[in-house]
Amino acid sequence: MAEQKRNMVLLTIDGLRPDHLSIYGYKRPTDQAIALFQKQMVVFKNAHTHSFPTIRAFPAIYASIWADECTTKFFWQHFKKLDLPKWCLTIAEAYQSHSYYCAAHTGWSNFLTPGQGFARGVSDFVGMLREDRLASKNFWEQIYSSAWQHLIYSFRYLPSSRLVDFIDWGFHWFRETVNTLLKTNLQSAGGVGGRSATAVSSYLLNRIDENHQKPFFLWGQFHDAHVPLAPPKEHAFHANVTPEEKKLIGSAIYHQTPLSEELREKLIDLYDGGIRTAFYEIGKVFDKLKSLNLLEHTCVIITSDHGCAFWEHGYWAYPENKFYDESTKVPLLMHCPERSNGPHFVDTPVSLMDLAPTMLELSHLSPEWRFFGSSFSEAATQSKNQIVRTEIWIETLGPPPHTCLVKDGAKIVYRNDRKEFVGTITRDSQMRPTSGKEKRCFHSLFGTYEKSKQNHTQKCNS
Ligand SMILES: [Zn+2]
Repeated sequence: MAEQKRNMVLLTIDGLRPDHLSIYGYKRPTDQAIALFQKQMVVFKNAHTHSFPTIRAFPAIYASIWADECTTKFFWQHFKKLDLPKWCLTIAEAYQSHSYYCAAHTGWSNFLTPGQGFARGVSDFVGMLREDRLASKNFWEQIYSSAWQHLIYSFRYLPSSRLVDFIDWGFHWFRETVNTLLKTNLQSAGGVGGRSATAVSSYLLNRIDENHQKPFFLWGQFHDAHVPLAPPKEHAFHANVTPEEKKLIGSAIYHQTPLSEELREKLIDLYDGGIRTAFYEIGKVFDKLKSLNLLEHTCVIITSDHGCAFWEHGYWAYPENKFYDESTKVPLLMHCPERSNGPHFVDTPVSLMDLAPTMLELSHLSPEWRFFGSSFSEAATQSKNQIVRTEIWIETLGPPPHTCLVKDGAKIVYRNDRKEFVGTITRDSQMRPTSGKEKRCFHSLFGTYEKSKQNHTQKCNS
């Protein structure tokens, strides 16, 4: 007899690095809100994103394809590659084809919109251009919200990627100013209106309440651990960051310049507070599933699209040419009903390219050939050191584009346009020149990898 279909809840926390979670050994109780549920948790210690930033990471997470296959609507968007290609299948579409109810709240991400294909297969979707389900609180927030949602979306189709960055940051600054004027930036929930963790979790709780009679797939995207950071007082670790200090922090991140140790620590305080905010809301999702006796038929996966550097190697956040662990490693927590007496730690390196096929298998559904990745669900359910890939690829489009091969704990970084090696990042995070042997190894594996991508595209298009 076929096993019962299992619900899936995917929770993505933008910019969350694993070493800032208590379950990974962090000094602060950032994820204590889900401590009660850790017994059934599988913790992947070596999970890597396939790409970054957000817009490049999600094609792998959500459709198990690489970002370079994304398409452009207009010829001047040549470098943008914003939209999921028509031939791919989103994880929601896969669940929908098995008669699941699918809902998503993207936290109003301007990089995960219906226009890009992220609402494909989703019956109830909250994201940019779909503001029907959440009302803004007041006039200024409505102004902000409408400007953010419509203007920036249109501007994204302009040619210069610097201009997009500029507008993006301009609106972050605008939001912070609005927050300051309203005196809400240090006390109220992170972000404005619908972008807070509370809005995302409330939406998910409602969806569960109304739709748990049939199998469901839910996706929630949280922005609370991403700049601009504004954790509410009750979750902040030190709430004494002034608007001026926040401005300095924002400027240093934007210009990639160093900060004083004191400000750097304040930035980390804000970041950790943001994480605690998101996990507090995630705790509510677990509580809801438990109260409805759904936890025994539901997998909950918590992960991120990339990490966030705090100047450990002379940079902030996740520039596309930096491949240190603080950029590429993501947390991957799987709450699996069949596990107990955990948490269970898995050392096997995994890639988020393989997450969508893994989710299907964890839900006891048939595999989907349009996913490029392969399932590593046995590593989660049976503690097997299941090796899906002996090498993991991380690709950023830039420009300039880079490819990074993660193998045997080291990372070989290659710059595609110049066809040259940037260097090798060792296990202990030191950059050294790539050896001749490593170069030969890279080229041979890269050839096979490129061929497998080509075959996959051909298969999906024929
Ligand atoms: Zn992101």
